[in-house]
Amino acid sequence: MNRAGGDVLLELRGLAKSYDGRARALDGVNLEVRRGEFVSIIGSSGAGKSTLLRCVNRLIDPTEGSVTFDGDDVTRVRGRALRACRRRIAMVFQHYNLVHRATAIENVLQGRLGYKSTVAGMFGLFSEDEKRRAFAILGQVGLSDFAYVRTDQLSGGQKQRVGIARALVQDPLLMLADEPIASLDPKSSRTVMEHLRWAADELGVACLVNLHQVDFALEFSDRIVGLAGGKLVFDGAPDELDAAMIARIYGTDVEGAGVDGAAGVADAADSDAANGCIGPAAKADRAAGRTGGAGAPATGPVAAADDDALSVAASASDGSAAAAGLAPAADGPAAAAAAAAPAPAADGPTASGVVAA
Ligand code: ADP
Repeated sequence: MNRAGGDVLLELRGLAKSYDGRARALDGVNLEVRRGEFVSIIGSSGAGKSTLLRCVNRLIDPTEGSVTFDGDDVTRVRGRALRACRRRIAMVFQHYNLVHRATAIENVLQGRLGYKSTVAGMFGLFSEDEKRRAFAILGQVGLSDFAYVRTDQLSGGQKQRVGIARALVQDPLLMLADEPIASLDPKSSRTVMEHLRWAADELGVACLVNLHQVDFALEFSDRIVGLAGGKLVFDGAPDELDAAMIARIYGTDVEGAGVDGAAGVADAADSDAANGCIGPAAKADRAAGRTGGAGAPATGPVAAADDDALSVAASASDGSAAAAGLAPAADGPAAAAAAAAPAPAADGPTASGVVAA
């Protein structure tokens, strides 16, 4: 199902990354993503999926190769040009990266920080138009009724939809999603995938999504990319991905590479207790789950990755505390934004037709 027919938006050429100067987390990856295309990246834990996404929005610098986005070489741009690139490349995180004590609408408005000066961002100075838009987008992801609810009161699936709304209010051309459903139950996972797919289909936002659920990748993607040991070993339509290739991608035998069962089942509960608590052990378990193992939920006291927090900071305007979206104070910039945000209208923006769970 290749529903995207646009020209090339993102082009990776010979992309390589070594963190320690020896082992290659990414090794000569060539990849193109078209406008409005939905591309899933699959691969076992440590295959290089996150590294690839982080090279695209320059959270990390590749060791070799180029990343061309909308005509700009992302690996070369600096300062203002880099910020302009990042405005058009939004990110959705496994652990949502929301300001928990702020409301949904406050969190969504954080997506506009990349368009603001540091001072305007610090004081939460958003225009009426921006507030209306934020509210409309929340409606489109089925959360009109939750706009003024603190995000720590929301379910995992709802939190992730706030994360998607925050990404969309950036007016991105490309949305990067790093394991966006890894902490969700199957029903919430499906809803989140439907909203990502809707963003590609209806808004023309290309999506590059790291997934460990092969079933969801098969169902929702225009194209699937398989990474193994930092190398791209598959790039094709979902119906071209057979069991032998899945086995190769996950480094297992064909028997264990079925796409039914565990591969399509999220490994963590959609509970606030579980959210943000999926540690390295869970990541390893997920790898087992993908290949037909039990994939038992493994939750632990591991907080959301620090580099995720860094990602939000980097995608905001100037890296100020406010721009980072990390200021958790109830009376911080986000609160200021809320105070000025439009009241929820009974007949507010209608949902998008996407199922709201
Ligand atoms: P995936 O997202 O597929 O699980 P990653 O991109 O996170 O894979 O990791 C790819 C490889 O790079 C792994 O061997 C991992 O240990 C290594 N790696 C990832 N991030 C870092 C880092 N910040 N420092 C050193 N090594 C890293």
